[in-house]
Amino acid sequence: SSYYGRVTKRTALITGASRGIGLACAKALAAAGHKVVLAARNLDKLEEAASEIRSTGGDALVVTIDLSSPESIQQAVKKAIAEAGPIHILVNNAGVTKDGLSMRMKLDDFTSVIQTNLTGAFLCAQGVMPGMMKERWGRIINIASVVGEMGNAGQANYVSSKAGLIGLTKSLAQELASRNITVNAVTPGFIETDMTAVLSVEVKEKMLNVIPLKRFGKPEDIAAAVAFLAGENSSYITGHVLKVNGGMYM
Ligand code: NAP
Repeated sequence: SSYYGRVTKRTALITGASRGIGLACAKALAAAGHKVVLAARNLDKLEEAASEIRSTGGDALVVTIDLSSPESIQQAVKKAIAEAGPIHILVNNAGVTKDGLSMRMKLDDFTSVIQTNLTGAFLCAQGVMPGMMKERWGRIINIASVVGEMGNAGQANYVSSKAGLIGLTKSLAQELASRNITVNAVTPGFIETDMTAVLSVEVKEKMLNVIPLKRFGKPEDIAAAVAFLAGENSSYITGHVLKVNGGMYM
């Protein structure tokens, strides 16, 4: 079989897979033939997403996880491996915002965003690493953000977590390369999901003006990049930060 046509069925764990970008990633990985484990807090939403994937012929399981809790992460990863086997692909996608200017930001609003977005991603990676090392094959894909590259007023906590994810990506890439595990980040620009639905018309208009491709991204735009980084054809790419932002930051 040709190198480019090769499809090996792997197992993928996707956090924040109940909606938005995470759900699109889960669908894309399932469509590529992988078994997907959908993780988030709300079990009903997860079950709904999983049955949607199954209805199109995909292989999907669910586990509840709360990324703000190290204990929950440990249990969820353990359960995922027990039910689905070793995790070959981890998509650290779940993320939260608690916006506000630094001058008045509560300490808890800073630390809780770091805890969920950055520490949570680190602990998920740590949980799946032994299995990937044993398999001598792995893909870790961290969903960061364009603002982690640019900075953004009113998001010091979120931006710090996303810039931290980029640093984490490069460090893990160096630590895990000898075991044939690649670690990459994807930095979405403005993507139409629940997270951005709350923004005002004025803010959206302003954003659109600085996007050369003159449209907001869709979750599928991110999922396509993730599916590529999760596949066989990206095996020589590690420590990379892949911008999927319509050109808003180059
Ligand atoms: P979203 O629509 O708000 O979905 C967030 C997902 O994460 C949901 O599945 C949610 O499910 C889960 N989640 C939230 N808190 C969690 C927690 N503590 N533990 C476990 N799961 C949790 O977000 P999105 O727009 O798809 O964003 C996905 C990722 O892309 C995030 O990391 C975000 O920062 C990043 N991103 C988004 C944009 C954008 O424009 N949308 C741009 C750049 C980067 P539950 O609520 O059930 O837990």
